[in-house]
Amino acid sequence: MRTTSSAPVEAQRIQELNGVPERRGAYVLYWMQQSQRAAGNPALELAIASANRLGLPVLVVFAVTADFPGANLRHYAFMLQGLAETAAQLRERGVAFTIRHGAPDAVVLELAPQAALIVCDHGYLRIQKQWRAQVAAAAAVRVVRVEGDVLVPVAAASRQREVAARTLRPKLLALREQYLRRLPSVRPEVSAAQLRVPSSLALEDVPGALAALRIDRTIGAVPGWTGGLSHARARLRAFLRADLAHYDVARARPGAPRVSGLSPYLHFGQISPLEIALAIRQSAAPAAARESYLEELLVRRELAVNFVDTTPDYDCYQSVPEWARRSLHAHRDDPRPHVYDYDQLTQARTHDRYWNAAMREMLATGYMHNHLRMYWGKKVLEWSADPAAGYATLLRLNNSYFLDGRDPSSFANVGWVFGLHDRPWPERPIFGTVRYMNAAGLARKTDIEVYVRKWGASAPAPLAL
Ligand SMILES: Cc1cc2nc3c(=O)[nH]c(=O)nc-3n(C[C@H](O)[C@H](O)[C@H](O)COP(=O)(O)OP(=O)(O)OC[C@H]3O[C@@H](n4cnc5c(N)ncnc54)[C@H](O)[C@@H]3O)c2cc1C
Repeated sequence: MRTTSSAPVEAQRIQELNGVPERRGAYVLYWMQQSQRAAGNPALELAIASANRLGLPVLVVFAVTADFPGANLRHYAFMLQGLAETAAQLRERGVAFTIRHGAPDAVVLELAPQAALIVCDHGYLRIQKQWRAQVAAAAAVRVVRVEGDVLVPVAAASRQREVAARTLRPKLLALREQYLRRLPSVRPEVSAAQLRVPSSLALEDVPGALAALRIDRTIGAVPGWTGGLSHARARLRAFLRADLAHYDVARARPGAPRVSGLSPYLHFGQISPLEIALAIRQSAAPAAARESYLEELLVRRELAVNFVDTTPDYDCYQSVPEWARRSLHAHRDDPRPHVYDYDQLTQARTHDRYWNAAMREMLATGYMHNHLRMYWGKKVLEWSADPAAGYATLLRLNNSYFLDGRDPSSFANVGWVFGLHDRPWPERPIFGTVRYMNAAGLARKTDIEVYVRKWGASAPAPLAL
């Protein structure tokens, strides 16, 4: 494995963004955006190693924009809880931290004139790429991007849009061992204590910071999920202790879930996928269970990243494969016994008690078990007036209510409901040759009645709406 001379980070994770040289400065600036953590973060380690080489302290900046597409109070609350922990851990490591309200590119460019070097992390959504491109174009200093939220760097795995998991899997598995190496933590040699860089939000008081932001408050925060690395690690430890050994067989039991619940933490970069993968690999659980989990964390998750990274219109119905759109179009005028609008769906008022239970879980917790997500998504396709409208409704529900929404996995899995990464199946009404799911299958294959007792209409009222 090649690493740069100045850092313990694989060269394949590092990308020069503007070809401008380093220069004299007051600090190395790490613009934290995707990898919102103070441990297991290769961008941070590269920033510290570079600062040691230059004899400078590190300043980390995080910019909070109030209008990130689709984000609401539910997401901001989880994110700020995580950032509060990150800020404290950075200070303990001798690294300065500032959080500012504003457009990320503008906030970074305000601090750029004193920077000898800018390091940023990598995000795959359109807006994340635009911000990085704007900073790289406008900063008169070297900007370096470090890819730390996937196990295998995306371009190292594949430079093309992959057809399905079966085409990406062998490429990822061939590289897996090369990248499953612990990231060393670098000690800052120059203290940042003398840097005085004010913040415009006080993370010591997260509710107060949230109140100061002009964000969409229509969907409330969820109790039971607290953002931050310590909470992610507590979930990981509990999963390793009690559930991983049963993961491959128990995944089909949404009534008694034995899953990790790590997707919101991964979405906000609050825990490293490498840390999770190493813990899974080192556990004493049976190999089948470990491999089953790594299939989700590595293959399914990074297939989603491959899709978003290689598909400019990843958030549009047109990104669904042509065979699927053609078939859905051919069945556009099929009779639809049930059609529901967005409000009926968000009130969990359909004729289907399984679906309503899933929706109630999502409303109350911002989470839903994967098996239910599949069924839930397929029914939105079935109950929409036409497929393109169904796609838009499903993406909006997904990204508004899930804590892990607005992620590459959101776009890839909503696309999956409409045929992405799948193959044609026997033809049937409404769905054409796109895969269909029905309630009888759910009843046969899962413990859905246990789940309905938990989340159905007679269950306790959902909280925090
Ligand atoms: C219609 C639909 C919508 C979905 N929307 C999202 C979303 O908005 N955000 C999101 O992160 N995931 C989404 N998923 C994928 C998956 O359901 C969740 O990642 C998973 O349920 C999260 O729970 P967990 O962390 O307990 O998963 P675990 O079973 O513990 O899996 C471990 C990790 O593997 C990854 N993973 C698992 N399944 C998938 C998958 N199918 N695709 C990609 N990665 C996966 C996740 O990062 C997850 O945290 C969606 C799936 C469907 C079918």
